[in-house]
Amino acid sequence: MPADEIIITVYLCIWLGIFGAVWGSFADCAVSRWAAGERMFTGRSKCASCGHVLSVPDLIPVFSWLFRRGKCGYCGEKIPADCLAAELAGALGLVCLGLRFGAVPALGQWLVWGALLLCLSLTDGAKRIIPDGLLLALAVNRMIWFFVLKEDFDAVLNALKACFVPLALLGLVLLAERLLGREVMGGGDLKLLFALALYLSWAQLLLALLAGCVLGLLWAVSAGRKRGEALPFGPFLAAGAVLTVCFGDPVLRWYLGLF
Ligand SMILES: [Zn+2]
Repeated sequence: MPADEIIITVYLCIWLGIFGAVWGSFADCAVSRWAAGERMFTGRSKCASCGHVLSVPDLIPVFSWLFRRGKCGYCGEKIPADCLAAELAGALGLVCLGLRFGAVPALGQWLVWGALLLCLSLTDGAKRIIPDGLLLALAVNRMIWFFVLKEDFDAVLNALKACFVPLALLGLVLLAERLLGREVMGGGDLKLLFALALYLSWAQLLLALLAGCVLGLLWAVSAGRKRGEALPFGPFLAAGAVLTVCFGDPVLRWYLGLF
């Protein structure tokens, strides 16, 4: 890679890291308010325990949490690690997308995609809901960039092919639910797969699904979840999709090359 390209990429990633952390912080705050039934976008940020209005040094993503060692600077009560996790996920997600695509117009589509996936991961984590509005925003974003990037009929064909993955899964889920007599996969997760099919090829979507299952399983094991205890799948599927888009191509090339 030429030196000037490296400088541009580093510069891009620094800004994406900052923007991603700020977005993660904002989205986490908005989703916590939404989950608590409060107004999402009005009012100053406050400590959830003592209600003290937070000042600028308390609101620097990632660093405030680390400097205060995860505790409120006024009452000393613990600040949930979810807040830090959302900021780090936002920063890492956008930096990975920046590294994957570089400074090209298409990066715009993927950044909005990543930002929306973070939001729906948070809503799913907080209330086990993936709002239709966020799924619709994913579809609209894809449609806008389809025209902006002047994509051809192949993109439509790829999306239709990818839709077979959630369709097949829907069939399996309905069958499993009939046999087991209980819900095995949330409707929101299936709708998210359809929304992801607009962006990913069928092979990428399968890999994202597999990666999501592995991540979910690892999480369940590390968190000591018992069998049968439901886990929101949206955050893992979203993480699997981001990992697949950023790092999945060599894996798919290797796997598809076996046949
Ligand atoms: Zn406090």
